[in-house]
Amino acid sequence: MYIVLLGAPGAGKGTQAALLSEKLKLAHISSGDLFRQALANGTELGKQAKMYMEKGQLVPNEVTIKMVLDRITAPDCKNGIILDGFPRNLEQAGALDKALIETGEKIDHAVYIKVSEAELLSRLTGRWVCRGCQAPYHEISSPPKKAGVCDKCGGQLYQRADDNTQTIKKRLQVFFAETAPLIDYYSKAGKLVEMQGEGSMEEISQRIISGLKTKAKK
Ligand code: ADP
Ligand code: ZN
Repeated sequence: MYIVLLGAPGAGKGTQAALLSEKLKLAHISSGDLFRQALANGTELGKQAKMYMEKGQLVPNEVTIKMVLDRITAPDCKNGIILDGFPRNLEQAGALDKALIETGEKIDHAVYIKVSEAELLSRLTGRWVCRGCQAPYHEISSPPKKAGVCDKCGGQLYQRADDNTQTIKKRLQVFFAETAPLIDYYSKAGKLVEMQGEGSMEEISQRIISGLKTKAKK
């Protein structure tokens, strides 16, 4: 099964992709995590992406598409994948479809997690992420047991450099201008499953799984 997760920054794509990848045994591929890893490792890819990420802009398509298409040919992707953060514009979606056709595969479902703009802003400004396992926390709504320490792996929590008000606003703008057209793209292809992204992590995960089941029956 090949699934795309769509949603604005802060919609909970990363959290939901991790839960779904566990439950459905799919490889979780996050383009943002791939870029952050490259950045941390000081690779050429990381250097190319840095400036765009800091400004909340999209990294150019040629760089991004190559990175993700390379990643999805890895052996752990054979059972299927869940894509988180990619595609983010129509050109990326077209390149993905084309690459999958060549391997006899296709995107089966696109899940759109919908969250109000006010909620997105509050989530992103209070977000802390684990350096070890990427688990997300929120200062107010889901704080860790011990400040600055991950409940799951004991790793150190940090705030992403792009989680500041100015960059957050830009990322939301980019989402509505460039990524939102994908909702229509996947809807026309009969692949869209849309749901409310407000509620507990487990509630939303259940909502996604039952949404996928209902759609499969149609
Ligand atoms: P969020 O969805 O919270 O903004 P991500 O971790 O998905 O966070 O992405 C962080 C940054 O990485 C983006 O603002 C962008 O600069 C870059 N990026 C991630 N995915 C893509 C993509 N598919 N195309 C272009 N740039 C991307
Ligand atoms: Zn952790």
